[in-house]
Amino acid sequence: MKPTIEILDHCNACGACVEICPVSCLKLNNSLLEVTNEEVCFGCRKCEDVCPNEAIRIKGIVP
Ligand code: SF4
Ligand code: SF4
Repeated sequence: MKPTIEILDHCNACGACVEICPVSCLKLNNSLLEVTNEEVCFGCRKCEDVCPNEAIRIKGIVP
C-alpha cells in the first residue's frame, strides 16, 4: 500500500518537513503547506520526526 500524507490544521508552515523530505513531496505555497508529489513518498517518516507540532502524518504503511 502506498503511503498517504495528511497535513493537520495546526501546521504553522514552518517548513522543516519541506527541507527534510528527500524526494520533495512537500512545498510551501503562500504560507500553506502543500503536498506536491505524494506518489514518490516512500514512507521514511522524516517529515513526521522533524515536525515540532505533530502536524503531519504518514498513513498506509506498515510501521
Ligand atoms: S515520509 Fe519521507 S518521503 Fe514521505 S513525505 Fe515524509 S519525508 Fe517525504
Ligand atoms: S514541519 Fe510540521 S508545522 Fe512545519 S510545515 Fe511541516 S507539518 Fe507544518
